[in-house]
Amino acid sequence: MLSKEFPGGILVLTGANSATGLRSMPARYVFLDEVDAYPASADEEGDPVTLAEARTTTFSHRRKVFMVSTPTIRGLSRIEREFEASDQRRYFVPCPHCGTMQWLQFDRLRWAKGKPETAAYHCEGCERPIAEHHKTEMLARGEWRATAVSRDPKAIGFHLSALYSPLGWKSWSDIAREWLAAQGSDETLRAARNTLLGETWVESGDAPEWQRLADRREAWKPGTVPMAALFLTAGADVQRDRIEVDIWAWGRGLESWLIDHIVIPGGPDDPAAWDKLTSLLGRSWQHSNGAFMTVARLGIDTGYEAAAIYAWSRKVGFEQVAPLKGLEGFNRSAPVSGPTFVDATIGGKRLRRGARLWSVATATFKAETYRFLRIERPSDEDRAMGVLDAPGTVHIPGWADTEWLKQLVAEQLVTIRNKRGYAHQEWQKMRERNEALDCRVYARAAAWILGADRWDEATWRRLEAQAGVETRMPAAVAAETTNDPAQPKAGTLTTPRRKRRAYTPNFMRD
Ligand SMILES: [Zn+2]
Repeated sequence: MLSKEFPGGILVLTGANSATGLRSMPARYVFLDEVDAYPASADEEGDPVTLAEARTTTFSHRRKVFMVSTPTIRGLSRIEREFEASDQRRYFVPCPHCGTMQWLQFDRLRWAKGKPETAAYHCEGCERPIAEHHKTEMLARGEWRATAVSRDPKAIGFHLSALYSPLGWKSWSDIAREWLAAQGSDETLRAARNTLLGETWVESGDAPEWQRLADRREAWKPGTVPMAALFLTAGADVQRDRIEVDIWAWGRGLESWLIDHIVIPGGPDDPAAWDKLTSLLGRSWQHSNGAFMTVARLGIDTGYEAAAIYAWSRKVGFEQVAPLKGLEGFNRSAPVSGPTFVDATIGGKRLRRGARLWSVATATFKAETYRFLRIERPSDEDRAMGVLDAPGTVHIPGWADTEWLKQLVAEQLVTIRNKRGYAHQEWQKMRERNEALDCRVYARAAAWILGADRWDEATWRRLEAQAGVETRMPAAVAAETTNDPAQPKAGTLTTPRRKRRAYTPNFMRD
């Protein structure tokens, strides 16, 4: 089924998750479909696109690699990166009134307020409205034109949005209607941008107001885990004179709750501080069902004093602890990669490959956190009708103080242009202290490492059954920062030992 012979050649099909398939044989032509949905790594052997492209090397100048995709998120989108490196061809069509050649852009599609059926395209030359019935003729007389100079002269790229749908497919009024229907949530707007316009979604960089977060703090018993939460992770930020740890609980759709905030005095040079951090790994927090939960995974930043952190992690074991290294930029196909083996120095002795290290694209998780913090909460009336919090909702307890809230929203995404005019986005601190945000990012990375972004319905149900939580069915799952569709590996989660009224979805022990 996966290979078809025909006169002059053979067509071989494989999956982006199969390193063996991608390495199988030399190929002159490689066609990669939906590249934005590819996993970051095929069977942990690296980028599937790179693996596939390597198939063509023996054909040198006669080879051709063709990639197609609906784009996803700015900075994470592979197809956008490829398109931007190309000559960026757009399909130019003539205005039926004045003949001006132009490529169709969404902001020129206009309609009377609330009346998508009146949608018409407005010419950029004469500003006159163009009715749908002209489209067939316009498409027939159109042509592809480059709008940029490609960095690699052999790379050509084509972009087409739903505005070009031929008659009988998607009309301009259909597009207007779908666009209106998508208003109201970032998730639906993002889907509309991706699928209708063929444009990436740009994560908003504005930090939410800390006052707003203060207003929506919730009262639940300090240090306890609310009912819908299913597992705990921790994020630890090592500073010169202290270690700050936040404990986060996670539920379906990556809804989250801040459970505890712990400051351990003494920096990485102080053995007592490390002992306190070790004891935290054995500590438990009470779930509303009466059981006690420990931290399933603690993400710890290695940025300040890597050697001490490797040594400690090796001592307590990598099953419960993930040393993390933050990477700059959005340009990563997955928010977390690794682990890689790094050398560690233990008791003055250097151990080759003695520690494991995960790389985290912190920018991605910061953007996600701010997007999650902006999610609207159901009104009391909606709640009474059984409306649940949306996936991703962040719950902050009443005891979270002003300083913590200000730290959480301490950064802002800014666009920076270099001298040659190339733009990139980066997060910048708006105030000195930002540990709450860093700890959140490390705890979020720990949830990713556990596999929470890739769990299927059955896994969530199993966790809920373990916790004695009624299955909640959110309308959409927001956990889509990763493009990795891989299912959780067998053995990632196993049934914890059941005790009376006590359960620990402890990923370490089982
Ligand atoms: Zn015109």
